[in-house]
Amino acid sequence: MADVRESIHVIGAGPAGLAAAIELARAGRPVSVHDRNADVGLRFRGDFQGFQNWIWEKDSREVLESLDLRTNFSFVPFRAMTAYLGDGRRFAIRSERPIFYLIRRGNTPGALDHGLKQQALAAGASFCFNDASPRIDNGWVIDATGPKTANILARGMVFRTRHPDACIGVVDDALAPGGYAYFLACGGRATLATCTFGDFPNIGVYFDRALARFKKLADFDIRRPKWFSGFGNFAIQSELAGPGRTLHVGESAGFQDYLWGFGLHLAILSGHLAARSIIENRSYEELCRLHLLPLLRISLVNRWLFPWLVRLRLPGQLRATETDPWHFVRFLHGQYRPTPLKRLLYPLALRSLRRWPKDRLRLGGQSVIEWARDCKPGAPG
Ligand SMILES: Cc1cc2nc3c(=O)[nH]c(=O)nc-3n(C[C@H](O)[C@H](O)[C@H](O)COP(=O)(O)OP(=O)(O)OC[C@H]3O[C@@H](n4cnc5c(N)ncnc54)[C@H](O)[C@@H]3O)c2cc1C
Repeated sequence: MADVRESIHVIGAGPAGLAAAIELARAGRPVSVHDRNADVGLRFRGDFQGFQNWIWEKDSREVLESLDLRTNFSFVPFRAMTAYLGDGRRFAIRSERPIFYLIRRGNTPGALDHGLKQQALAAGASFCFNDASPRIDNGWVIDATGPKTANILARGMVFRTRHPDACIGVVDDALAPGGYAYFLACGGRATLATCTFGDFPNIGVYFDRALARFKKLADFDIRRPKWFSGFGNFAIQSELAGPGRTLHVGESAGFQDYLWGFGLHLAILSGHLAARSIIENRSYEELCRLHLLPLLRISLVNRWLFPWLVRLRLPGQLRATETDPWHFVRFLHGQYRPTPLKRLLYPLALRSLRRWPKDRLRLGGQSVIEWARDCKPGAPG
């Protein structure tokens, strides 16, 4: 049996690490969380993100509740959005079921990271900030340090605005090669970003184009702008449990939604599974194989099929959402259904993924990752 007094070190205080810490501390385990930054959520700049609500049968709010996670952070259901395709076609989407829940990243009250940190503290976890290389002599290590390579690169801006709450998405290679650009406004704050899956050296050009396009689509004012950058990982790991007693969770283990880059739910779920594996003395790899890896594989095939999806299926599916308020979430959900064809395509998709060493590209003399990490709030786009 595992020793319940054995210390557990969680390295990285993002959603994956915090979800693990909350569960372990509630089970009475001695947990310390270490983060390289001075607080939680500082990898982000207060930007809005969407917590997907299409992958699971259950509503995401219920899933979080079933993991005993309280939504003590702003978690706003969005049931409407406007989508544009590259040829300018516009689709007004209405959905009975929330398409996603809007959350904010950062260390201020109302932000996801702040809320999860409060839950971890209340459960008895301790925190060590400004601690990138903690000294660990014994016990478990949960590696929750986030992405290591860059397959997605984002450039964005957060600002204050008088624009009413809105979500606008544009799928257009001219603004976001292989990806999409988005404008999210809620309660007087807004986030505008381009999320690219290729041509990283020109990210600044794509951001400027996205800003110009969104200004035309929604005439918003911009006050107190701050710029941000970020990257995402498609480094699907073959070993989820490292040497000694190290478990890799969240994006550090490659848990991402490869289709759209919505990795939050997988980060939280993998942190939860790592905690359960320690508490219940079960194999973490086995739990992931059961609950996460099938989804990961399908999303990788989806990413590989993305150009066909956009060209052949998306226009018709988006049109159908305008008359059927259940269609959009059902269509998105359907993309994650395991089919024999998707199983067959997986090895091809995996091979193509391995040909994506995008992080070797350089931006302004730095690697893409250094560039994204160094982006200070207020730095020009
Ligand atoms: C611009 C952008 C927009 C996104 N939008 C969405 C969205 O709308 N919906 C969605 O679901 N997902 C979105 N994602 C993805 C989502 O943010 C990630 O999947 C999620 O944050 C991964 O959680 P994590 O806990 O694994 O890692 P992270 O959130 O990256 O947390 C890792 C933590 O580890 C710390 N750390 C790193 N190295 C060390 C070290 N050596 N020592 C100590 N600490 C360390 C970091 O400071 C950080 O706090 C977006 C990502 C980006 C970049």
